[in-house]
Amino acid sequence: MTYSKGAMIYEGKAKRLFEVEGHPEWILQEFKDSLTAFNALKKGSFDGKGRVNRDITSLVFRFLEKRGLPSHRVADVGTNEMITEKLDMLKVEVVVRNVLAGSTAKKFGLEEGTPLEKPLVEFYYKDDVLADPFISDDQALMMKVVKTQSELDELKSIALKVNAGLIEFFGAANLKLVDFKIELGRTKDGRTVLADEITPDSCRLWDKSTGEKMDKDRFRRDLGNVQESYVEVATRLKNHWESK
Ligand code: ADP
Ligand code: UDP
Repeated sequence: MTYSKGAMIYEGKAKRLFEVEGHPEWILQEFKDSLTAFNALKKGSFDGKGRVNRDITSLVFRFLEKRGLPSHRVADVGTNEMITEKLDMLKVEVVVRNVLAGSTAKKFGLEEGTPLEKPLVEFYYKDDVLADPFISDDQALMMKVVKTQSELDELKSIALKVNAGLIEFFGAANLKLVDFKIELGRTKDGRTVLADEITPDSCRLWDKSTGEKMDKDRFRRDLGNVQESYVEVATRLKNHWESK
């Protein structure tokens, strides 16, 4: 695919966004090698992280697309870039949990690893300055994340379908999907599609055989082998994708 990278529009913690010359409807996302946690209070990086996360996001979005769950992905370009549809992003992060871990295990004083009878869907208000606070449905409506309760219900329904797809996809790579975060945006013609990334930065993934953590918790909790784990996740997903 021929394209020409234009001006940088935004630099975030994990990605840079660029215009694509001649295509005002697209955004080029460059995945960076940096790694941050706790709203960027903790910073790190490893060589090739951008490439690994681009590759994982691409595989996941291609898998979900086949399941009728569209994303912003247009094409992979370069080693660590993806051309995407420019979206009107919803100011919400949607988290789905299958197993208790992280902040929610702590909040209820329950042990990390406690399985949930049914998946939990949670909304967080997307605002770095406020450190993405948890919000109720009514608070989401108050902050005009969307206009109506039925739109919130649609987001929950998409999140649960994504969860079912991801459990299957990661499961085939011998990975247990503990929890994950997605972002969504609206296309010009009003469709709601998956955006941003789905990677070990945004999912908790535990090896099904050993229970070993294979995601950003290795960095958050100084467990070592961060790079090896991300590469292993990418390799397993690629192998599964190519064997189909
Ligand atoms: P952060 O902004 O949290 O530091 P990133 O470094 O990942 O995170 O930056 C990527 C930014 O691009 C995020 O703010 C995300 O919401 C936004 N984004 C993701 N996909 C799209 C898209 N298709 N169109 C417009 N913005 C997008
Ligand atoms: N998550 C994310 N970005 C955020 C917050 C959470 O990608 O800004 C992901 C996180 O990696 C985990 C899930 O969402 O897979 C649930 O995170 P949690 O609320 O437990 O937060 P944490 O314990 O990491 O603070």
